[in-house]
Amino acid sequence: MLEIKNLHVEVEGKEILRGIDLSVEDGTVHAIMGPNGSGKSTLSYVLAGKEEYEVTAGEVLFNGRNLLEMEPDERAAAGVFLAFQYPIEIPGVGTMTFLRTALNAQRKARGEGELSTPEFMRLVREAAQRLNISSEMLKRPLNVGFSGGEKKRNEILQMALLAPTLCVMDETDSGLDIDALRIVAEGVNALRAPNRSFVVITHYQRLLNHIVPDVVHVMSRGRIVRTGGPELALELEEKGYADYVEEAA
Ligand code: ADP
Ligand code: MG
Ligand code: MG
Repeated sequence: MLEIKNLHVEVEGKEILRGIDLSVEDGTVHAIMGPNGSGKSTLSYVLAGKEEYEVTAGEVLFNGRNLLEMEPDERAAAGVFLAFQYPIEIPGVGTMTFLRTALNAQRKARGEGELSTPEFMRLVREAAQRLNISSEMLKRPLNVGFSGGEKKRNEILQMALLAPTLCVMDETDSGLDIDALRIVAEGVNALRAPNRSFVVITHYQRLLNHIVPDVVHVMSRGRIVRTGGPELALELEEKGYADYVEEAA
């Protein structure tokens, strides 16, 4: 599904990613772990198509298509979903309006017509119910005054509605209490499917107690320095990243 080959990325003339190779098969969950500053968020921004990140070498294929040549909205339409560390608050925009706009933008890019109000309401209600999201929360402006857990629920709701094939989640667990963590994990686990893959970026192991990854990668100084199974996350929890920081240096 996702094939990253020898990816080099610069920000403001400084090389941040220094040759990333990553292959994500259909239906798998890959965790990317690593010390702060190793380039994890940079990788997610590049996949999202953020402008200031300059790809100087390498390629990214998404189901055989050159992802790097696609505009951010084309990526979303093709089935790429990104969840970021800090969800934005949009005071003037209602949560429902936001969800509907996102969903219709995706449909339009796919050449599908807009959803009618009843169709949209039915989809949202079903998903919200599954994820324990109150109708009161849906009436508020996007993310404004939401608790950490509510923001996460909302993000999982977006994910459920957009039904992506690739979900990239960047430290979506940071700053969450155990209940919010469980919401994210349950949401992800509920959406696991043979044709859907996840790249879960996290600094800490604890999220991976709830979302059991198929593959764990350690990133350090812009490279993937080790790849293993779920046991690698446990080892990191125990030993920390000290070995990898020195190895990369
Ligand atoms: P991580 O998510 O693993 O903590 P980041 O991808 O956020 O790492 O950052 C990797 C490195 O790139 C850091 O040294 C950071 O300072 C630098 N960096 C990231 N984004 C920018 C930016 N927009 N401008 C300048 N430096 C950046
Ligand atoms: Mg960081
Ligand atoms: Mg980060």
